[in-house]
Formats: sequence, structure tokens, C-alpha cells
Amino acid sequence: MKRSIVQIRPEDNVAIAVQTIPAGTQVRDGLVAKDEIPQAHKIALTDIPQGGEVVRYGVVLGYAKEAIPQGSWINEFMLDLPTPPGLDDMEYATNIKPYEELPDPPVTTWEGYENPDGWYAGTRNLLGISTTVQCVTGVVNAAVERMRKELLPKYPNVDGIVPINHAYGCGVAINAPEAKVPIRALKNLSKHPNFGGQMMVVSLGCEKFTVEKLLDAADISPENVIVLQECKGYDAMMNALLEMADKKLAILNERRRVTLPLSKLLIGMQCGGSDAFSGVSANPSAGYASDMLVKGGATCLFSEVTEVRDGVYLLAKRCVNEEVGKKLAAEMAWYDNYLEAGGVDRSANPTPGNKKGGLANIVEKAMGSIAKSGTAPIVDVLSPAERPAKSGLIFAATPASDLVCGSCQLSSGIGVQVFMTGRGTPYNLAACPVIKVCSRNEMKEQWPDLIDINAGPAATGEKDISEIGTELFHKIIAVASGKDQPFSEKYGLFNDYCIFNPAPIT
Ligand code: CA
Repeated sequence: MKRSIVQIRPEDNVAIAVQTIPAGTQVRDGLVAKDEIPQAHKIALTDIPQGGEVVRYGVVLGYAKEAIPQGSWINEFMLDLPTPPGLDDMEYATNIKPYEELPDPPVTTWEGYENPDGWYAGTRNLLGISTTVQCVTGVVNAAVERMRKELLPKYPNVDGIVPINHAYGCGVAINAPEAKVPIRALKNLSKHPNFGGQMMVVSLGCEKFTVEKLLDAADISPENVIVLQECKGYDAMMNALLEMADKKLAILNERRRVTLPLSKLLIGMQCGGSDAFSGVSANPSAGYASDMLVKGGATCLFSEVTEVRDGVYLLAKRCVNEEVGKKLAAEMAWYDNYLEAGGVDRSANPTPGNKKGGLANIVEKAMGSIAKSGTAPIVDVLSPAERPAKSGLIFAATPASDLVCGSCQLSSGIGVQVFMTGRGTPYNLAACPVIKVCSRNEMKEQWPDLIDINAGPAATGEKDISEIGTELFHKIIAVASGKDQPFSEKYGLFNDYCIFNPAPIT
């Protein structure tokens, strides 16, 4: 049955409008809308005094700047932000859900590409071309255009060629402590499971980010590395690039999908262009699918530090032990300092679109965002772009920026990303497919041929989270197995790799 407002918890004193509610509407017994309440925006369920708590998800979103009468529209200008939760006195491992209570996955195998390193398997068969510096981008792009025309048709089992262009490599403080983040990101990306263990690196020759910093010593050889300054002119560069790609493509062409357990599957979750429904429909559905994946043995990453910061105490209780909990606190503290050095805090996160979508502030956004983590225990915490070493649900610290989070998770090795959106974005990654899940029916109607899964019926009350979560689970398995493609992959809508470089540029 359709409903007109969504109240998450009994103790909440606000609810959100499923559709725009005209002023004067009787919303439910004893509640009349005093103002027009835009879709996804909040209505006051009770009189809230000046300085009083505004509560949604059972948590304090903020404090009323002025008295808010019952039935009023509550927008982002009416709340004072609470101070962020402390990091030093969190409870760890006090809310560990037993695995047997997680929802059972309907299938426990998928079809993927195994790799020589025995790590997570690939979901696509791609030639990845790593670069050590942005100076080589033009040459690499020109060569890739020729490879796609002249070489790729010979190798029908290869899905594509991915040049890893980025804005790093020279003119950077390579020995700065935080340079480890971009270096780790590029190093780990070169080993992405979709690249089949084939290394192809293009270097200029005089940059700070040397081949030795990118590759393990065993991988440094003329079979894997082309240095443009060592080539005699443009033609020689092109010939060297095409010749190396031809050899790598011939090897990749022999890869075949095999039936694998879910333990070989690594999935990333993130949200972007969120609205107040994201935490009601899309993110809880993703959380349900994540719980099924984790129960089946898969590994799921969720990320976006500024979007979990205000709910970190809830995540700390789900960390399997104090060691993991302290890693979580350390990642939060690192980001607090990073933002402070830039003269901002976590309140810099919400976008104009988020606010138009009814999200008053970062606390409300965070409560919706963490729903994508489901209910499973958190077995580990990663620094940005690290590769997971444990199976299960993992918090992988990254910025919340869609492109930077996506790129960091890609470096961590994800084979599929699941992306929840309220406002809509056509974003996609070149090295792994991205499944779009929207939070409301109107988004699906607006973009029927860009949104893969509509979680809107969970917002209106027409479907359960478990139903949409199961639908999403099946989509993830089909996409990972190469039996289905998300819309953005079908159209080839690939975004650039956006590196996270918290270190200085020189
Ligand atoms: Ca994001």
C-alpha cells in the first residue's frame, strides 16, 4: 500500500514526504501540513521548541534554530549541526550479528576469470595500460585508438582496453608522507583482477614516479615496460606500444570464465547524488544484498569517510574486535585532520542537489549512507586504495566524491560497483561495471534507460527491502558473471580515473 510519509523510528519527530504534500493536507490523524512539504523533505510530527532536538533514524540530526510548529516543512536552514561523535571513547564489538542471522544468498556461485595470483577473480577481461606520469597520456590515447581498431578484433575473448591515465607522476612531492596514497592506488590498480595479471606500463623516462615505484621488481622488464624517451621518434613509440599490446592481448584472449564460489567475488558499494529516500530505499536494499553476499562468502567494501563520520559509533559496535575498531577511528581522525588543514569540516560534504533532495545536513546524509553496509560484522578497515586481505564486510576509507571513491575502490580490486543515487548520475568506471540503483520511482521514470534497479517501491511501501535487495543480488551476480551489462557499460560511458592525492604538488 502506498503511504504519504515515511517515519523511520517511533522516536523520530520528523518524517519525509513520499510525494510533495500541499499545505493544508491531512497527512495522518492529528497531523496537517502547515506548509507545502516538497517530495523527500521533512515534516515536523510534533511541536519542536527552539533549541530542541530534530530526530530522524532515532538520532539527533540537529537542533532547531527557532521553534518549529507541528506540520511545518523543515529545511536545511532551520538546524544547527551537532558536534561530531568523539573517536576516543567508542564501544567496539558490542553489536556483532551472527552470520547465521544474515539473509541466505539464493545462489552461491558465479562465473569469473581466475588469475595467476589466486586472489579475487575478474569480472571482465581487459588489457589495462598503466602509466607512470600524465605526460604520456596523449601518446597512450593515440595508441589505444589504433589498438582498438587494428588489434582488438583479432581477440574476441577480450572485452576492451583500459588506459589508466591520471594526473600524477611528476611535479609532485613524491617523498611526502601522504604520497603513499596515490602511489599505492596506481600500484594496486595495475594488479586489478580484470587485467589478468598482464602488466603493460608506459613511462616517460624522467618523472618522479618511476617504474620501480609502480611495479614489483619481478615485473620490471622490457616485456612489460615502454619508456617513451628511449624510443626514436613517434613512429617507434607507436610500434612499440602496438607490439606489446598485441602480445598481451593474445595471452588475455585465452582467459575463460569458470564457475567460482562467492569467496572469489569482491564488490564495492557507494552512493552519490543522494536524497532523503536514499536511506529509506536504495541504501537499505544495497545493504540487504551486501548481507547476502557476505553470508555467501563474498567480500563487500563500503566507503566514504565524511558520510559515515556522524554514524561512526554505530559502525564501531559492528567491528569484530578492538583492533579493527581502532583502525576505523584512525581513518576518521586522519580525515578530520585532512579537512581541518583545508579549513573546512564534514559539513562541507552535502551538495545543492542533496539539499534539494531533502537532506538537511551531513548527519542526515550519513545515517542514510551507512545503511548500505547492511548488518554484517565489519571484519576489517582499509586505508584508501589498499587491497583487502580478509573476506566479509570491510570499511574501505575513501573520500565521498563519486569519482575518487570509485577510483580508490577500483584500486582495492572491486569487480563490480553498486551505486545508489537519488538525484541521478550517469557515472561509470572503465575497469569494472557500475550498477545504478535509484531511491525513488520518479528517478526511474526520468532515466528509464540509465537506472538499472529501482528501489523506489520500497520508499512508497509497495515492496519490501528484502524483495529489492534480492533483485539487486541477482543483478550483481549476472553482471559479475558477464551475463548482463548495466546501462552505462552498454553505452560505454566511462569516467576518468580520479586519483586521490592528499600530498603536495610541487
Ligand atoms: Ca559518493
